Amino acid sequence: MDTQGRPLGVLRLSLTALCNLACPYCCPDALEPPGLLTLSQRVQLVEAFVALGGHTLRLTGGEPLLYPDLEALIRELQRLKHASSSARLREIALTTNGVLLSEQRAIQLREAGLDRITFSLDGTTAEAVARMAGLKGGDAAGQIVLNKVVAAIEHARHAGFDPDRGQIKLNAVMTRSGNADQLLGLASLARQRGVELRLIEFMDVGNRNGWSPEGVLTADEMVKTIDHHWPLDPLDRHPHGTTLRWRYRDGHGLLSVIASITSPFCGDCNRLRVTADGKAYTCLFATPESGIDLKPLFDASLGSGALRDGLLALWSRRQDRYSEERMEHRSDHSVEQSAEPRAEMAYLGG
Ligand code: SAM
Ligand code: SF4
Repeated sequence: MDTQGRPLGVLRLSLTALCNLACPYCCPDALEPPGLLTLSQRVQLVEAFVALGGHTLRLTGGEPLLYPDLEALIRELQRLKHASSSARLREIALTTNGVLLSEQRAIQLREAGLDRITFSLDGTTAEAVARMAGLKGGDAAGQIVLNKVVAAIEHARHAGFDPDRGQIKLNAVMTRSGNADQLLGLASLARQRGVELRLIEFMDVGNRNGWSPEGVLTADEMVKTIDHHWPLDPLDRHPHGTTLRWRYRDGHGLLSVIASITSPFCGDCNRLRVTADGKAYTCLFATPESGIDLKPLFDASLGSGALRDGLLALWSRRQDRYSEERMEHRSDHSVEQSAEPRAEMAYLGG
């Protein structure tokens, strides 16, 4: 448990800081940081995380499909799922923009033992996709990306990922000036394809995405718009879940909102983030220098427990509850941007 009584549950492991898209709300780096973790170090890290009671691994980036050892990593981690002790990995999930998910790749990932895929797509028109993905080629480029992501959802389904069991989801970051007009189109696409749509409030992570409170399309606004079109019934929040959830009254599946700006979930947050170069962060809104470099703990001369002990020490002193504190300090519940520098989103892995 950390200092707020929160158990360690989820590891978001970034496999690369690079991306094949350039979403303006994320602004990925053009170069990989030096000193990337090796495949074997990543496996050791997940072992240590599971030994401490962690149960869910989310592979992210940058764009994780750019990581050449992705399938090998997933395959090597399968034994942690089949462990007989209570310390067992329950699930390996992937967050991807989907552009590189061919039919073959989806099959390979399923065969390697991947359990879930969340796709990110922020619009259903070529123009909106081009804008939200930072594409240089205008509408034509937007149409190509849109077609690829929609095809990727079908490749995942055919490879055996079952949306009815939550194994395929769709994430969309919504901004007031960028894609507010895409809300109904995205909901319609998700309803047609039978996948849960997770709308994400634009977050002030990083220092270069031009975030301002006015740019945030709030959970309330998004849900009202969709409810007006397709009535919704609220559902309970999952323990440690990041989402507010609804069910379409007409039986067409689920809708979620990740409202980390207007409805923070710090009190329940069980996530550890590790970057591609092995820096551990215990909050998405962390300052760059608060990352703890895990690489020295892989030194074989320190013994196999060093990494586990290091992670335990880090988690035990964790205090972060940035989003909630920000809300508490503002009596009118409005938000403003922090003056502190932030680690970048594509580096942290979302
Ligand atoms: N490239 C992959 C993708 O886009 O799914 C994985 C990495 S991306 C950093 C992980 C998630 O973070 C994506 O769903 C993305 O939409 C979300 N994200 C990035 N920047 C964000 C921001 N400023 N506010 C809210 N969500 C953001
Ligand atoms: Fe790339 Fe994902 Fe960031 Fe978009 S959100 S730039 S797809 S890492």
